[in-house]
Amino acid sequence: KNAGGGRWTWFDPIMDARADTDARLSADLRQAITRDELFLLYQPIVELPTGRLAGLEALVRWRHPEHGLVSPADFIPLAEHTGQIIEVGRWVLTQAMRQIVAWQQEFGPAAPAKVSVNVSARQLNEPGFPDEVAELLVTTGLDPAKLVIEVTETAVLGTGAALEAVRRLDELGLQIALDDFGTGQSSLSLLVGTPVSWLKVDKSFVDGVTTASPQAVIVDGLIGITRGLRIQAVAEGVETAEQAERLHQAGYRFAQGYHFARPLTESDVVLLLAHPRTRETRQSQLI
Ligand code: C2E
Ligand code: MG
Ligand code: MG
Ligand code: MG
Repeated sequence: KNAGGGRWTWFDPIMDARADTDARLSADLRQAITRDELFLLYQPIVELPTGRLAGLEALVRWRHPEHGLVSPADFIPLAEHTGQIIEVGRWVLTQAMRQIVAWQQEFGPAAPAKVSVNVSARQLNEPGFPDEVAELLVTTGLDPAKLVIEVTETAVLGTGAALEAVRRLDELGLQIALDDFGTGQSSLSLLVGTPVSWLKVDKSFVDGVTTASPQAVIVDGLIGITRGLRIQAVAEGVETAEQAERLHQAGYRFAQGYHFARPLTESDVVLLLAHPRTRETRQSQLI
């Protein structure tokens, strides 16, 4: 994705070389924040019956001075490993919260209703994390109801501390989404003991939705579970009109994927919000 000249990849044939590039990339990451090399893209989450914008997911990118655009799939796992995710995550959260407040001030009721931010296991287990979020809510003035924290099943199941953090975030009034649902250490008991508002059904299931496949059966089955538990289901990675139609028929109200929109720059989001006519045109083009 976005593959172009100079795109960083991990596919070094020799492990030593990889450890070496890891070390260098990690050293570079230390300076990425102060050098203003990180930025956020925002991918629309769409309401299927109407095509309306339901929210945006913030996705971090790194513009590396030599390697060009580095994907989070390449540097987030490394940052988790080194602990740098704490600082990166703090930057992402602050940036996303400020951004949605700015959009609210500029666009009022036309502003995106919600912004989702991905939070890693390591962040969730950092003892001060919920307090930090509480403090950011105060300093940015963001209505907590507008913020969704995306966590994976594995992150929440990992430790009691993570589950406790999720409960504190819920008490603060923000919402929790279980990301990549079905691919981690899935346990349905997680849906019993955790204050989950959104369940993001992983792309690997959505990929199979238009075929007679176990994936399609799971996609259908999750609708019954989420309805009964009053959790909103979001289909991730929707790439075709056929998938979107099939998901709508199955009862999905929310979806996200290249079929609707790619992750957008801040200025593309502004265009989407500022020009409702263009927005209709765009949406009819996109959906
Ligand atoms: P995710 O949270 O599951 O985000 C969805 C990923 O799927 C994004 O990749 C998005 O660009 C991609 N995607 C969306 N629609 C489609 C589609 O139709 N087809 C395909 N093939 N892909 C689609 P991205 O931006 O490369 O992020 C990858 C992962 O990196 C994210 O998965 C998330 O786990 C992590 N990540 C991204 N930003 C952050 C962040 O700020 N903090 C943390 N902790 N993790 C992040
Ligand atoms: Mg996510
Ligand atoms: Mg996801
Ligand atoms: Mg996913």
